[in-house]
Amino acid sequence: MRYRYRLEKRKAKRLGFVRLIRKLAIASLVLIMFYLLFLYTGGRPYLTEDSLRALSLIPTEKTYTLGFDRPIKTIKIHAEQDGQKRELYYASFDQPTNKVSFTLKAKDLGLKDGQVRLTLEFSSGFLLNRSYSLLSTVDAQPPSLRVVAYTQSPSVGGSLALKVKVDEEAQAWFLHGEHRYRLYSVGERYHLGICPIRLDASQGAFRVEAVDSAGNIFRQELHINLREVKFKEDRINIDDSFVDRVVYPLLGKEGEGLSTVDAFRRINEVWRSRDVSKIKEVGLKSEPRVMWEGAFIQLPNSKVFAGYGDVRHYFYGAQKISESRHMGFDFASVERAPIPASNSGVVVFAGNLGIYGNVVIIDHGMGLMSLYGHLSEVSVKEGQFVKKGEIIGRTGATGLALGDHLHFGILVQGYEVNPVEWLDAKWIKNNITSVFDAK
Ligand SMILES: [Zn+2]
Repeated sequence: MRYRYRLEKRKAKRLGFVRLIRKLAIASLVLIMFYLLFLYTGGRPYLTEDSLRALSLIPTEKTYTLGFDRPIKTIKIHAEQDGQKRELYYASFDQPTNKVSFTLKAKDLGLKDGQVRLTLEFSSGFLLNRSYSLLSTVDAQPPSLRVVAYTQSPSVGGSLALKVKVDEEAQAWFLHGEHRYRLYSVGERYHLGICPIRLDASQGAFRVEAVDSAGNIFRQELHINLREVKFKEDRINIDDSFVDRVVYPLLGKEGEGLSTVDAFRRINEVWRSRDVSKIKEVGLKSEPRVMWEGAFIQLPNSKVFAGYGDVRHYFYGAQKISESRHMGFDFASVERAPIPASNSGVVVFAGNLGIYGNVVIIDHGMGLMSLYGHLSEVSVKEGQFVKKGEIIGRTGATGLALGDHLHFGILVQGYEVNPVEWLDAKWIKNNITSVFDAK
């Protein structure tokens, strides 16, 4: 009895063991199935859409930043062109990363202009790899540019016209130090524009540039004979009565608690730079066609009582408190004199503009605009076409003005240049029109 009991117990034990093994086997099968499912549904890394798009073009030199949806450990990129296979890039990371940056130089890698098949392989761990195959275009040829014509001896603070021809689809620019000015594409691969010679210009800092659709850059220096101009220096005394009468009312709530000197500085520096930025913004919205004709006209029966580029030193008693540059002409006539549009164009701004008071800005095309400030009355609307001589408003003393006058500015790509050149038909013909017409 006792023996038999023991035998059955052993048998039962063995059966239990078999059942356990079976359970374990089923559990691991399920686990393996889940892992495989994980691999095929999202366990493997993906390359972002942006990265794929970036890889579709290989210019002379380009830095790529590839993004992955999960950190990867290794990456390998191959290129196949004319039956030849080349490794473009390989990296392996101790610390897995979501972002990989590298620079490709088409020529150094032996790639020729045309199509190339890229193969990307990357992995974030055991069995967690993926590969892509895609067609990419190699364009390592920078555009070539010919300078057709440009204003030979522009003045500091003046305007320059420039015409170039590029041998392929491209954007063209005139560079002046860190400033870039666009040239408009006018068909047959010609590009032309008017650019300001800024008051902070220096000899030898001018270049032309063309950028093709692949981002290849052609750049060349432009030798310009700058004509130096002597500008007037003015000392202007600021007193309490002027600040009380003009500055505080203009500042409104912003002037509360400010001393006479601080209130003047707020207007002359903070407001001025904000207004200049706004003018620049409007100045970039020019239409790529010439709407002006002949010389620009001056306010009738007026005298110029402040010139372009005048340096103004402001004094409060014996202390110099601020400085500014006068960037236009001040024309004085009778009070509330009617103002004719200086040339034909489209009104791109009609409203209040800080220290400039009520302002009208007319776009004459190709980056050229005229600005009318301190108006007592504005009689045109934005979007309206005006003909040369048509009345656009009346002179006044709105904004930072001592008395009734017109601030007249000429904007070239948003920068106020010397208007004197544009009042001179002969200057325009010799320095702008002749450049535009050159072949
Ligand atoms: Zn002025």
